[in-house]
Amino acid sequence: MTRINENYLKLKASYLFSDIAKRVSAFQEANPDKPIIKLGIGDVTEPLPQTCRDALHEAVDAMGTSKGFHGYGPEQGYDFLREAIAKNDFQARGADIDPSEIFVSDGAKCDSGNIQEIFAQDIKIAVPDPVYPVYVDTNVMAGRTGNNVNDRYEGFVYLESTPNNGYIPSVPDEKVDLIYLCFPNNPTGATANRDQLKAWVDYAKSCEAFILFDAAYVAFIRDESLPQTIYEIEGAKDVAIEFRSFSKNAGFTGTRCAYTVIPKGLMAKDSSGAGHSVHALWNRRHCTKFNGVSYPVQKAAEAVYSDAGKSEIKALTDFYLENAKIVRSAVEELGLSCVGGDNSPYIWVNAQRPSWDFFDTLLNEAGVVTTPGAGFGTCGEGHIRISAFNSRQNVEEAMQRIKNALTARA
Ligand SMILES: *Cc1c(COP(=O)(O)O)cnc(C)c1O
Repeated sequence: MTRINENYLKLKASYLFSDIAKRVSAFQEANPDKPIIKLGIGDVTEPLPQTCRDALHEAVDAMGTSKGFHGYGPEQGYDFLREAIAKNDFQARGADIDPSEIFVSDGAKCDSGNIQEIFAQDIKIAVPDPVYPVYVDTNVMAGRTGNNVNDRYEGFVYLESTPNNGYIPSVPDEKVDLIYLCFPNNPTGATANRDQLKAWVDYAKSCEAFILFDAAYVAFIRDESLPQTIYEIEGAKDVAIEFRSFSKNAGFTGTRCAYTVIPKGLMAKDSSGAGHSVHALWNRRHCTKFNGVSYPVQKAAEAVYSDAGKSEIKALTDFYLENAKIVRSAVEELGLSCVGGDNSPYIWVNAQRPSWDFFDTLLNEAGVVTTPGAGFGTCGEGHIRISAFNSRQNVEEAMQRIKNALTARA
C-alpha cells in the first residue's frame, strides 16, 4: 500500500459548519413553522454586476469566432487586467506597484494557501487567533507544525485578537519568519490603521520576516484614513505580499478571479545565505502548477475597473455595509459590545458567555443562525460572527427577532 502524508492526520477536523448544520436541522424539525434566517454566511448573496455580465457575454461570443478565440493565456494573467489592477488598486493610492508584479489567479484562498510552499520547512510562522483557517491548515499539511494540543498547533506563534487590544494583534516578542495578517479581518471585521500596519512592517523589517497580507475585504473600507493596501505603508514593498480577490467586492465567489502581488525586490535567502527573488520563485511555481484564469472571467474582472463597474461595486458594497450598520446598531442597543461592520461586512460580537451558548440562544429563541467565534480559534471563544451578506429584509427581520428574544428574557 502507498503511504500517505501523515501531516494530514494532524489536522483537527473542523466540525464548525457541520455542527451548525446539525443544530439548525434539529431546530427546524422541532419548529417546522418557524422560518430561520441565516446570518452565518461567508458568501455574497447579491447578483453579479451588470457591467461584469456584459463583459462576460461579449467575451464568450468572441470565443465563438476564429478571430476572437483565446486558448491558453499567459499564466500570470492578461496584460489588460494586470494593467487595470496596477493602475486602479495601487498607483491610484500612491503605491508603486507595476503590472508585472501582479499574478492573476482563480482565488485568494488558493494563493494564500499555496504561497507557503516556496518557503523553507523549518521557519517560524505567526498566525492570527481567531483566524481564516486556510493559513493554519496549509502549514499543518506542509509539516511545519507539531500536533494540535488544546486547540492549538505546536510550533505556531499565535497573534491574539482580543477585546484588550481592540482585536488588532500587536507584534510578538520573539522573531518569526512569516506573518499572516488579514484586514479588514475575517472573522472579526476589525481594520488596522496606518500606525498599526506600520508597526507590523517595521517589525517584519527588523527580523527580516515577510508579511502575507490578505486584503480580500478592502472594498468595504469607507474611512479614508485607513490604508487600502499594505503598499501604502512605507517600506512594505520590501517585506509584504498582498492577496486580493474579486469575490467579495464584485460577487465573484462563483465566478472565480483573484490576484497576488509580489514586489520584484522581495528577496529571501537559501541555507547558504544567498538571496533569491521571491517573485521569480512564485512565477516558477505559478507557471508549473497553474494555466491561467479563463479569458471571459478576466474580461469580467477588468470591467470592475470601468466607470460603470466602479459605481456598481460601490453600490454593492454600500448595500452590505448598510446591512452591517443595521446589525451593529441592534447589537449595541442590546448593550453588547462589538467590532467590525463599519469598514467590513462582519460584526464580531462579544457575547459575554460561551460562543455556543449564545449561538443556541439566538437559534432557539430568535430562529437566527450566526457563527460561533470558538470555531475560528481559542480567542474566538465568547464571541459570535454575524454576517451582513443577506437581503435587507432578512437582516432587518433577524435583528428585530433577536431584539425581541433578548429583551423578553431580560
Ligand atoms: C472570502 C475570502 C477570501 C477570498 O477567497 P477567494 O478564493 O478569492 O474566493 C480570501 N480571504 C479571506 C479571509 C476571505 O474571507
